[in-house]
Amino acid sequence: MLEKLLAEYAWMREQTVMELFQDREAKKKKVVGIYCTYCPKELILAAGAVPVGLCGTRDETISAAEEHLPRNLCPLIKSSYGFAITGKCPFFYFSDLIVGETTCDGKKKMFELMHSLKPVYVMQLPHLRDAEMGFELWVAEIRRLGARLEQEFGVEISDEGIWEAVEIIDRERRMVKAIYDLNRQDPPPLSGLDLINITWSKGFSSDRNEVFRLLAEVYETLKRGNYPCRKPGPRILLTGCPVGIGSEKVVRLVEEQGGHVVAMENCSGYKRLELQVDTSIGDPYEALAHKYYNIPCSCMSPNTYRLELLERMINDFRIDGIIELTWQACHTYNVETFAISRLVKQMGLPYLHLESDYSNSDLGNLQVRIGALLELIKV
Ligand code: SF4
Ligand code: SF4
Repeated sequence: MLEKLLAEYAWMREQTVMELFQDREAKKKKVVGIYCTYCPKELILAAGAVPVGLCGTRDETISAAEEHLPRNLCPLIKSSYGFAITGKCPFFYFSDLIVGETTCDGKKKMFELMHSLKPVYVMQLPHLRDAEMGFELWVAEIRRLGARLEQEFGVEISDEGIWEAVEIIDRERRMVKAIYDLNRQDPPPLSGLDLINITWSKGFSSDRNEVFRLLAEVYETLKRGNYPCRKPGPRILLTGCPVGIGSEKVVRLVEEQGGHVVAMENCSGYKRLELQVDTSIGDPYEALAHKYYNIPCSCMSPNTYRLELLERMINDFRIDGIIELTWQACHTYNVETFAISRLVKQMGLPYLHLESDYSNSDLGNLQVRIGALLELIKV
């Protein structure tokens, strides 16, 4: 039953591609491609368009990207750009507008090149979290995005429309979080690959009611205990750079060796699930700015909420060991590994930092290092 539901869930992506293909002449559906958790999807929905996640998670387009980009760049950026220039991503192809943000330097510069392929709109994300001026700039940037969407699609975004979209996105996140939280059980009902599927696939759906229906069914099925029985094993928390379908090799290697990735703190996991819009703030643009400004990404300074969140997750999910995954050339996450390893060691737990890319060239090495961590936990 669970397997069938999760397959149906993963199928949403294919279904949306078919719908966009059928709609290609009429162009009734407007599509906005996004690359980051900081993009306020609520505004896109309020403008009557469909937001779709475009972050590249596969190795297959990296060699094409390297014809324009340096080899020593993060694989996520190269994969994303590679999908754009090779025409291999239907969601990029159907996007009417691309929205980017000034998060890390590589992404920011990659968006400059993307301008020649599609209309690209880049939001200026301030990086100093505690500076009042930074927050004011972010509110202004969210308003500026609203104005661009209105101009692009010839619509008017009303405050009521934004609040309705806020309710949709917050409800979706509450539902996903409720499912994630069921993995506090031992053994966990969901594998790490299931968790990725649940957060990843919904980013491609144009039908929010279908997403709600499937999430509710997955939750009820798990609550009734209808899931495969798993053997107890080391409970691992994965943190660091985002992973998705195609770049999930670390999750797979943990589970093939008897461990369970019970929780993920990264952008494909918990990082954004706790954040809800404060509806008591009268101005919806300001309310959105508050929510998104609090995302604990390493491009922010200081990024103390990531440490708080990790500590809480380690306790709530009864974690036995932490794996931190940094994609090669991701400097901000790489620098943060020092603070993360210190926190984990203070909590008396084993910590493993892995630096990798999207290729399979280091599978043997990763397998040995992950195996050693799992053995350490078992003894
Ligand atoms: S890790 Fe940071 S830059 Fe990357 S998607 Fe998440 S929020 Fe955006
Ligand atoms: S993983 Fe790091 S370098 Fe790559 S896009 Fe995200 S923040 Fe930038």
